[in-house]
Amino acid sequence: MMNKRVLKVFVDFDGTITLEDVGEAIFQKFGKTEKVNQIIENLLSDKISSRQCWDELCDSVNIISKNELDNFVDMIDVDPTFISFVKFCSDNEIEMIVLSDGFDYYIDRLFDKAGLMGIKYYSNKLYVGKGKLSAEYPYFDCDSPTSANCKRNHIINHSSDDDYTIYIGDGNSDKDAAQYCDFIFAKKDLARFCSMEKISFYPFNNFDDITSKVTELMSKKNLRKRHQAQLKRKSAYLAE
Ligand SMILES: [Mg+2]
Repeated sequence: MMNKRVLKVFVDFDGTITLEDVGEAIFQKFGKTEKVNQIIENLLSDKISSRQCWDELCDSVNIISKNELDNFVDMIDVDPTFISFVKFCSDNEIEMIVLSDGFDYYIDRLFDKAGLMGIKYYSNKLYVGKGKLSAEYPYFDCDSPTSANCKRNHIINHSSDDDYTIYIGDGNSDKDAAQYCDFIFAKKDLARFCSMEKISFYPFNNFDDITSKVTELMSKKNLRKRHQAQLKRKSAYLAE
C-alpha cells in the first residue's frame, strides 16, 4: 500500500491572511510619514535588512500608548476566506504553520478576534511601553536579510524530504522562503518575483482559490515535487 501523502502548509501573515500589511500600517499611522516611506523604500531596494527596517521603524514613532495601538489593530480583520481554509486544513489533517515577519502583538489579537486561537505561528515580537515601540527577533538568522524571522529555517525544521510543502505569500519576506517549497501560491510582489525568476507558482486572490487548487493536487495520482526546491533544501542542510 502506498504511504499516505503528507502535506505541510506554510502561510505568510501580513497582506496574505490580512488584506493589508498590519506591521507597515502601524508605522504609517504612528511614525513620521516621510521617514517611514524612506525606510520601507530602503528595505525594498535591499539597502537595509528587514531587521534594520523594523528597528528604524520603531525609532520613527515618537510617542504611542497601548490603547492607541490596540484601537488601531482592532480596526483590521483577517480575510474571512482564511477562516474557511483553516477548517479545510484541519478536516484534511494538513498541518498549517503561519510564518510572519511581522509581530506577535497584533497576530494574537487578530486571531483571537477571528476565533482562531491555537494556530501555530512564528513571528518577531513587538512591545509597547513608556510611549515607545521596541522589537525582538527570536528567530533571526543573518543568512536571511529579507526576513528578520528566518522563515526558511522554520520550513526546514517542520518538514521532511518526503512531505509535500506548500507556501502561501505575497511579499518581500517570502521571496527566499517560498523557494524551499514544492508548491507556491503567490500574489503581488511575490508573484512578480516568481515570474521574473521563472519559479513556477499558482496565482491566487484569496484562500478559496487555494482550497480548490489544493483539493485538486490531493486528488492527483502522481504528485511531483519541485526539483529546484529539493536542491535548495539539500544545499541548506549541507551549509549547516
Ligand atoms: Mg506579507
